[in-house]
Amino acid sequence: METYKTILKEVQVRDEVYCDCCGKKIDTEGEDYLHLEKQWGYFSQKDGENHVLDICEGCYDKWRGSFAGGK
Ligand SMILES: [Zn+2]
Repeated sequence: METYKTILKEVQVRDEVYCDCCGKKIDTEGEDYLHLEKQWGYFSQKDGENHVLDICEGCYDKWRGSFAGGK
């Protein structure tokens, strides 16, 4: 038989999001953004580094426009 009790548990929840490119606060209720996580591997110059980026849509569009042949 299993019995249950009520406990209080502390958890980390997302609070605010800021664009890593322009620094503006992203209104996560009203706008979307790019969330990117990259664990760099052995064959990179950043072996083992974990990079996390949040980019607002405006910065994403500018960044994307800078790609060769990108639009
Ligand atoms: Zn931005």
